[in-house]
Amino acid sequence: MKAVRFHEHGGPEVLKYEDAPDPKIEANEVLVKVKACALNHLDLFLRAGVRSWTLAMPHIVGSDISGVVAEAGRLATRVKPGDRVLLAPGVSCGQCEMCWKGLDSACRGYTLLGVMVDGGYAEYVKAPEANAIPIPADFSFDEAAAVPLVFLTAWHMLMTRAQLKLGEDVLVIGAGSGVGSAAIQLAKLMQARVIAVAGSDEKLEKARALGADEVVNHRKQSIAEEVKRLTGKRGVDVIVEHVGAAVWEACFESLATYGRLVTCGTTSGENVELNLRLLYGRQRTLMGSFMGGKGELAEVLKFVFARKVHAVIDSTFPLREAAAAQQKMEGREFFGKILLHPEV
Ligand SMILES: [Zn+2]
Repeated sequence: MKAVRFHEHGGPEVLKYEDAPDPKIEANEVLVKVKACALNHLDLFLRAGVRSWTLAMPHIVGSDISGVVAEAGRLATRVKPGDRVLLAPGVSCGQCEMCWKGLDSACRGYTLLGVMVDGGYAEYVKAPEANAIPIPADFSFDEAAAVPLVFLTAWHMLMTRAQLKLGEDVLVIGAGSGVGSAAIQLAKLMQARVIAVAGSDEKLEKARALGADEVVNHRKQSIAEEVKRLTGKRGVDVIVEHVGAAVWEACFESLATYGRLVTCGTTSGENVELNLRLLYGRQRTLMGSFMGGKGELAEVLKFVFARKVHAVIDSTFPLREAAAAQQKMEGREFFGKILLHPEV
C-alpha cells in the first residue's frame, strides 16, 4: 500500500509518501480501507519527537480515521467487509479494572491509533474490531473522520470531568481549534453561556456561528478583563483550555468561586505558578483531562449522528501532500479539521 511514513524525527520534510507493507490483521481485528484521516496536533508532536514516546520506525501517524472495512478477522462478529465505519482512536486492553470502569484512557496499556501502533496516513489501517463504529448512510467519510478525537476530548472535559450543569458560564480558550469548536457546541447542548477566545476576528465570527454567545480576541483584549465585564466580576463556572502557560494567569483569574478549570494540553508551555490561597479560598478545582472512554464516544456520537453538533472541516489534502497539510496546521491559519484523502 501507499502510506506517509517517517523514518526519523524532524520537520514536515521527514514525511515520505512511499510503499509500505499491507497491515496483517489478527483474529480480533479489522482492516479498513482509509477514506479520510484527520490531522491532530498529536501527529506533529509525534513527528517532531518532542514527547517521550519511543516509536518503532518507520512510523505512520493518524488517529482520526474513517473508511470501509476491507477484511474482518475470524473473531469479528459486529462488523463485516463493506461496512462504512469510523475508528475510535483509543486502544486499550479491555481487561483491566480501568477498562472495566469505562476509563479507557487510564488503562496502563492505553494508546491511540497512530501512536504506538500505525495510524491512518495510509491506504489501509488495522484496528481492533472493538474500535470500528458503523456510520449512518447519509454521513460522509469526511464528516466522520473529523469527529472522534476532538469530540471525545471535549465531551470528557465538559461532561465527565467538569460535570457541566445546565446554564453555566463556560470559557472556551482556543475556539478555533478542533477541541474548541467541539466544546462550544457541546456546551450549548447544555444551554451554557459560552465565551469563546481566539486570536482573530475571523475565527471569532466562526465561533459565533457555532453558538458562542460572547467572543474575546486575545490579541486586542484582555481575557480576564472581558470575563469580569461579561460576568459582572463573578467569573465563569467552567474553563476548557489546552494552551497552557500563555493563558494560565488569565484563566485562573477568570474562574468563579467553585469554578472548574479543565486542561487537555500545553501548546504554549507546561509550567505555571499557582496561588494556593486563591485556589482554596475560592474553592476552585483544577483538573486534567486526557481523551475518554469508548462509552463516552458512543454518547457524543448520538449527538453527532443526529446532527445536533458537527465537526468543522477546514480543508482537505491528498495523502501524498501530508507535509503541506501539517505545515498548514503549524501555521495556525485554519479553523476546524484538516483532512487527508488516500485517493484523489
Ligand atoms: Zn485496560
